[in-house]
Amino acid sequence: MSNVHELKYLQDSIQELKDQGVYRKLPVLESANEAEIILNGKNVINLSSNNYLGFANHPKLKKAATDAIEKYGVGAGAVRTIVGNMDLHENLEVLLAEFKREEAAMVFQSGFNCNAGVIQAITNKGDLIISDELNHASIIDGVRLSRADKAVFKHSDMADLRRILEERRKDYSQVLIITDGVFSMDGDLAKLPEIVELAEEFECMTYVDDAHGSGVLGESGRGTVDHFHLHGRVDFCIGTLSKGIGVIGGYCAGSKVMKEWLSHRGRPILFSTALPPAAVAPITEAIKLLMNSTEYTDRLWSNARFFKERLGKLGFNTGASETPITPVIIGDEAKTMEFSRKLLDKGVYVSAIVFPTVPKGSGRVRCMVTAGHTEEQLAKAVDVFEAVGKEMGIIG
Ligand SMILES: *Cc1c(COP(=O)(O)O)cnc(C)c1O
Repeated sequence: MSNVHELKYLQDSIQELKDQGVYRKLPVLESANEAEIILNGKNVINLSSNNYLGFANHPKLKKAATDAIEKYGVGAGAVRTIVGNMDLHENLEVLLAEFKREEAAMVFQSGFNCNAGVIQAITNKGDLIISDELNHASIIDGVRLSRADKAVFKHSDMADLRRILEERRKDYSQVLIITDGVFSMDGDLAKLPEIVELAEEFECMTYVDDAHGSGVLGESGRGTVDHFHLHGRVDFCIGTLSKGIGVIGGYCAGSKVMKEWLSHRGRPILFSTALPPAAVAPITEAIKLLMNSTEYTDRLWSNARFFKERLGKLGFNTGASETPITPVIIGDEAKTMEFSRKLLDKGVYVSAIVFPTVPKGSGRVRCMVTAGHTEEQLAKAVDVFEAVGKEMGIIG
């Protein structure tokens, strides 16, 4: 009998991961994802989640979810084009469009599949896609699924983007420029005003994936486009409903014609079951909370300022972040891993991020401050950073 079922080639690849020291187990969370969690059986302060506004376990969102289950059940039962399109989905999209200050919004099952579905739907053979080199993996996959030609510009380098436009714009009918709104490893913002200027000069469309800007930047979390006052000048405004908004899902906001087209050619809309009622209802509640008050985003930003200031005073290198994402740059990969391990031993969970996710020698722990943290929790975390930083000679 053949030994094909042993999957020897995968076993070999896994051994390679182990040899390179990059094999890992998944951490197990045994509580809601909040400021303090039970991780692998231990109570720790959580500085690793994308739950920016503390919505993932918010009582009002939970109530909306359970109410929706009572009325609509647990599953949408079909793709949206058949019979899975509930009034819940329709109402959410109307609200999202208003929130985003755009004409329309189309909701997807995740931020990932939104990028995978939208990019291929809006580009064709004979088009060109120009993408920032640090764009998210789901954009890279989305671009791969398109039959358009591709070009990559150096991270946030406007001279390089201009060079590509000057060399190649003339050879294509449509050109689409794609960027993250907030880059998740450093917390820096895209140079969106310059990108939009260049795009308009060269008659290109623009596409911004604002996963880490959604619920974070702009008025009450309306995103990077709102932050830079660029409404109407970015054609495809992608956001996620799984980070700041605390639930699950993604969306594309923009023009009516965008939505009309995606409802016919967005493959996740046609071929993947619609978001369940227990997701759509709390998302809607979250957007309402943001439209009624800046309380959550205000607290997020004041917590982020507090934490950054304290770490900076201690002498840590917190990089060039312009958002609540707070990298603490250690440099050496092994030292970074050790730093993260020691923080966890002392009750603070911050994941280490090293090569190849970030360039060699720029290993960091990435702290995600949220509105759900209390100042006491953040101050306690800073004390642990100080103790471990001194012990390891990272700060004086
Ligand atoms: C997290 C992320 C996504 C994926 O969003 P999900 O809703 O988690 O699938 C897409 N793009 C960027 C830039 C992200 O950071």
